[in-house]
Amino acid sequence: MALADVTDPAAVNKAIAEFDALGREVFLEKYGFRPAKDYFVVVDGALYDSKAIAGVAHLHQHGILMSADEFSGGNSTVANRLAKLGFKVTRPATSPNWSVDELMLALDLYLRTRGQIPYNVNAKIVTDLSAELRSLRVFPDHVRASPSFRNPNSVSLKLYNFSSIDPEHEGQGMSHGGAGDVRVWEAWAHRPSDLAQAVALIRARGESDDSPTDTGEIEEYEALEGQILFREHRRYERDRKLVDRKKKSVREKTGRLACEICDFDSLDVYGIEGVIDVHHIVPLHKIGESVTTLSDLVLVCPTCHRVLHKHRPIITPAELRSKRS
Ligand SMILES: [Zn+2]
Ligand SMILES: [Zn+2]
Repeated sequence: MALADVTDPAAVNKAIAEFDALGREVFLEKYGFRPAKDYFVVVDGALYDSKAIAGVAHLHQHGILMSADEFSGGNSTVANRLAKLGFKVTRPATSPNWSVDELMLALDLYLRTRGQIPYNVNAKIVTDLSAELRSLRVFPDHVRASPSFRNPNSVSLKLYNFSSIDPEHEGQGMSHGGAGDVRVWEAWAHRPSDLAQAVALIRARGESDDSPTDTGEIEEYEALEGQILFREHRRYERDRKLVDRKKKSVREKTGRLACEICDFDSLDVYGIEGVIDVHHIVPLHKIGESVTTLSDLVLVCPTCHRVLHKHRPIITPAELRSKRS
């Protein structure tokens, strides 16, 4: 028995029809196949696990099921065989991993449409999100120009990935999401209205041409809010006028410029005044249209500032101060 014996497109179509009739889970279980991760036959926008389809096509053509352990080649061999018979097959994308910003947009869509619709690759919400992600300035233009980048297949799969980590979702999803999917789920899924606000801000800023922040810094911190919101946070914190006003007001009140968390004062230690950052304490998605006031800012030394941004779950300056040993 060999995959090469599957030569009849009609046998493949029969397998697909049975998949449709039984539903994915029953079909896979009936024939003993595990859910596919990346390789799917695409028919009218619906996805079919390619190995299972090939094995069952063998049954329809030759009367014997080709079971999962009888496949000798890898998934790409299966994909090649089915492609030869005229079927469209998805392959793992060569695109970069999803950024946090992109995952937030996808999760927001998932939560708003949860349980209502299958994420068919032709569905308008899927093609719309695909187009939006392709225009979001998170990856360089040449990466986003690739036709496979965040195409409807990959968007559809991502939405199914979220359904697989959604405890309210019945039945299994397409495949288990990656660690990034889970982190974004844990950070945002329980507060959908915050996420919606954050996503609105990402949308508003994501196509702007603002000069990117130093990327090392973004990589270090992007885990929670994504690059676009982090960049925006930095923009507030580096607003010269605001920073100068804050320092002036603190100096007038306290006579010095010390870290509000650990009390480090560069003037005392090194004889140089003002080696200190300003941290914006209101989460960006909560700012909305309101204007930042001096009380939204705290003076923190660079070390405490890093800790504030790295701490998970998010922590306020007051909480961080109380944690110091
Ligand atoms: Zn400090
Ligand atoms: Zn900060």
